[in-house]
Amino acid sequence: MPTGTCPECDADVHVDMDTDKGETVSCEECGAALEVVGLDPVELDIVEEEDLDDDEDDDEF
Ligand SMILES: [Zn+2]
Repeated sequence: MPTGTCPECDADVHVDMDTDKGETVSCEECGAALEVVGLDPVELDIVEEEDLDDDEDDDEF
């Protein structure tokens, strides 16, 4: 099974054989969402989850 390294905590993250580039896996160690950016070797990138803090002027109350 291919293994990548979590950029967040340096743990080994197992990636499914049929996982494609661009898919998101999560680190079992720290729970970070990681995007598969490379397959040979497996490279993982942290997916920054933008918090929904946009200041839109929506008057839906
Ligand atoms: Zn991790």
